[in-house]
Amino acid sequence: MNYYVLTLFPDMVRDGLNTSIIGRAAEKGLLSVEAINIRDYTREKHGHVDDAPYGGGAGMVMQAAPVCEAYEALCSRLGRRPRVLYMTPQGEVFNQSIARELAAEEDLVFLCGHYEGIDERALEMVATDYLSAGDYVLTGGELPAMMMIDCISRLIPGVLNNDASAEIESFHDNLLEYPQYTRPEEYQGRRVPQVLLSGHHKNIEQWRREQSIRRTFERRPDLLRDARLTDREKAFLKKLELEAME
Ligand code: SAM
Repeated sequence: MNYYVLTLFPDMVRDGLNTSIIGRAAEKGLLSVEAINIRDYTREKHGHVDDAPYGGGAGMVMQAAPVCEAYEALCSRLGRRPRVLYMTPQGEVFNQSIARELAAEEDLVFLCGHYEGIDERALEMVATDYLSAGDYVLTGGELPAMMMIDCISRLIPGVLNNDASAEIESFHDNLLEYPQYTRPEEYQGRRVPQVLLSGHHKNIEQWRREQSIRRTFERRPDLLRDARLTDREKAFLKKLELEAME
């Protein structure tokens, strides 16, 4: 996977993605991250990339030309036109299933706005997808891009030491993950649930599924609509619903 981030703040992106699991994956050649400075593509002699909005109003708007030219230069270099994900609070809210779909791409371009956003004409010309980090407004698209790159990268084979861990985490099967524990067995009077110490794999598996269902019911009941549950698990959920009504 090759990520290209079109941004006015390339150092922020480089610094944010060159450590820990993503940094190691890049070192191993499993992915690459290139931060491209949109400012390098301005033709204005003072290096301006933004201007006041037509029609008036607060703030500045990033101009179309540097954005389009940065993308066209990348396409000429690559010999292909990758998908361009515009980071915007107006987009579809990013989630695990979008991450799974994007992880199958060979190249992804993340377009980061700043100030009041980007001239609409540039978006019409280059953006293929509009993605949001959530229903709130940030100062720029760099953090959403880094967040999405982190999430997508975990799904690339070899990036996590244990690929299975990406498969049984929260949002797999539309359930949140069960609670996790590690040594010591007792901490400040709180003991690890006995079943996890039993070595009985079938019971552990069942306990974890039930904890996942309970946790999802308590914290994100909206996810349960699309969860795939066995008849036994549906009965367990019914029991939780009845308990909650008491
Ligand atoms: N005026 C824009 C609007 O109301 O839709 C918001 C502009 S915001 C201050 C500046 C830039 O931050 C946006 O162009 C976008 O790239 C990024 N941004 C802000 N919030 C975001 C979010 N929730 N998800 C993704 N990108 C976001």
